[in-house]
Amino acid sequence: MGLLALGTALEWPEAKLRANQVREWGIKQLLEIWNKAKGKERDALLWGDEVEYLVVTYAEDEPKVLLSLRQAEILTALAADKELAEAGCVPALQDEKPPGKPSKSSKTLPVFHPEFGRFMLEATPGKPWGIGLKELLDVEPDMKLRRKIAKEHMLPTEFPITLTTFPQIGVPGQFTYPFYPPSGPKLRSQFVPDEIANPHIRFPTLAANIRSRRTRKVQVNVPIFHDKNTPNPWKDPTVNFDLHNWPEDDDVRNGAAPDNFIHMDAMAFGMGSCCLQITFQAKNIVEGRELYDQLSPLGPIMLALTAATPIYKGFLAGTDVRWNQISRSVDCRTPEELGEKPLKNDRWRIPKSRYASNSTYISTSPRLRPEYLDPDLVIDPEIKAQLMEGGMDDRLATHFAHLFIRDPIVIFEEDLQELDLKKTDHFENIQSTNWQHMRFKPPPADNNIGWRVEFRSMEIQVTDFENAAFSVFMVLVTRAILSFDLNFYIPIKKVDENMERAHGVDAVLKDKFYFRKSPFPPRPSRANTVFGDDSRPGSAMPSRPGSPGALPVEEEYEEMTINEIINGSVDGDFPGLIPIVESYLDSINVDVQTRCELSTYLSLISKRASGELDTAARWIRNFVDAHPRYNHDSVVDDAITHDLIGAVVAIGERESAGHGFGGLDVPGLPKLLGKFRNTGPEVTTSDKSVGSRKRKSE
Ligand code: ADP
Ligand code: MG
Ligand code: MG
Ligand code: MG
Ligand code: MG
Ligand code: MG
Repeated sequence: MGLLALGTALEWPEAKLRANQVREWGIKQLLEIWNKAKGKERDALLWGDEVEYLVVTYAEDEPKVLLSLRQAEILTALAADKELAEAGCVPALQDEKPPGKPSKSSKTLPVFHPEFGRFMLEATPGKPWGIGLKELLDVEPDMKLRRKIAKEHMLPTEFPITLTTFPQIGVPGQFTYPFYPPSGPKLRSQFVPDEIANPHIRFPTLAANIRSRRTRKVQVNVPIFHDKNTPNPWKDPTVNFDLHNWPEDDDVRNGAAPDNFIHMDAMAFGMGSCCLQITFQAKNIVEGRELYDQLSPLGPIMLALTAATPIYKGFLAGTDVRWNQISRSVDCRTPEELGEKPLKNDRWRIPKSRYASNSTYISTSPRLRPEYLDPDLVIDPEIKAQLMEGGMDDRLATHFAHLFIRDPIVIFEEDLQELDLKKTDHFENIQSTNWQHMRFKPPPADNNIGWRVEFRSMEIQVTDFENAAFSVFMVLVTRAILSFDLNFYIPIKKVDENMERAHGVDAVLKDKFYFRKSPFPPRPSRANTVFGDDSRPGSAMPSRPGSPGALPVEEEYEEMTINEIINGSVDGDFPGLIPIVESYLDSINVDVQTRCELSTYLSLISKRASGELDTAARWIRNFVDAHPRYNHDSVVDDAITHDLIGAVVAIGERESAGHGFGGLDVPGLPKLLGKFRNTGPEVTTSDKSVGSRKRKSE
């Protein structure tokens, strides 16, 4: 997330009074960008990934694994590294440069960013990836390089790992290094200290103001996974019902911690999760809007397919993914907005958290039928009117008028003196705290880059091989969408429902998801499409026979397994995303070497979808289940965590050292990664002891 300049952050009651001003100025800034950039053409098809890490302290003979709160020191060490600094790899902490601005140096070393958790890091490529297919093969080495550079700027016992969540966050006792006791004025959590959050004033203020706006702490409740020895009903044994430090300590006495749920009460439990995001630049706004819509229905599918989050606060959860927990961890809605009280002071009932699946489509395509939209979408009609008066069309104005139903949460006094139309700070204030599974990113104020679309639902994977595979897959799907003019529209409410379904344990194999029966444009004419030219390559995929027809919307989609969606249905009705991508690759010139490498990525994804390989969530569950310390009571203790993190660290060390995974003694590994990366130099004994590598920077 972008950091705002440092200043005086307003506490909630005061921030609320200034909310309208921020919205008003934000809309003016948006219209300024819109008018400047709506006709922007021929931007390059660039894209970029974001990988997030947890930083843990781990030693084989040290029983406890801890979250390291040394984010600032690590970023400082990275910034002090001359080579990295010259290449522009570390943005100044308080004054982030605009995205995508090329660094002066021609080097493309990765860039490191702070994140919400003081135990987190984010890394992106030094500059966005280009359109070339060969460049797709640079992604995995670049991700490995990022992990290696990050590690080189940590203590010997610290490791950057790509698990979505830390299994012991919030358990009673010590789980951070250094140790801080829980309960501080900002979070008022029973379980985590304020020091868990990035100390930049933006982050504690965000958490505190969300809490104030809600009039209570956030309630991040996840169903417990009921194993054979798990009591039923199960009561979260870590909840203290007798605390009286803060007024919010009453929350649990007022029912915040129901039976059979793991109860968490702070933003860190959600926003402390790691994900894999991909941003695409479109050639113009029309294409960007089209991509936003066509990628939307894929969000829940990719969430389920990348599932990696089976443990919270030392317990196995009854869900596999992080999404709803993040959603609840920043849910700022008031009791009135939630429908618990009659509307009096607030303007609307709001059905979703500001972190949620996106609620509307925005394309200009005639394929977007009104029936796909949500008739009950909450918008601010005045904002919509202003945007339309400023020249914006109804659909896009609706999208932004929906985002702008939210209050800005963090407002800096200094920013309210004067409206600067050469900036986008007020617009971004609302935009960047609407965490939807797709984000439509307008060009920054200086307009040096194009309209972008961000795909945000995927969970981070244990290895860079997998993270590269999912990134590359999404790039290829995007290319296929543009090339074949694919149509994945289903009613947006069905996308919401899919998002819920994606949470189930092994949803990837056990659930069905609403999906469009045929993604192909009707034959023979392409006149209906938003793409005026026919210059895009290939027509290897068959068009859907018959008329474009106005089937009733309910007949356009059906429930499919993820295996069917990814690999195609047995009856051949639905071609499958992988075969579509293969056809796309057939339709263009790809050299054999590149095609082979891409095939290993596609194969990983295909096998995850079919169940031949496990998701990270399934691998972790099996790891816990088979651990001698596990009592089948849903409790994941320090010892299990130690061995799990030890395995993840060993995998990461192997990978960034350029070794294969073959022979690595980690239970279940072949079922997680297959045989794709089993080759590589043999590991010597000295390499084997985790954490023994020397720091380059010392
Ligand atoms: P945010 O955190 O707001 O999502 P970041 O600045 O972390 O955004 O960058 C997201 C990704 O977008 C990075 O991988 C970056 O390389 C990539 N990116 C930057 N500029 C462009 C561009 N013009 N087109 C596509 N991707 C870009
Ligand atoms: Mg991030
Ligand atoms: Mg980022
Ligand atoms: Mg950012
Ligand atoms: Mg992002
Ligand atoms: Mg069928």
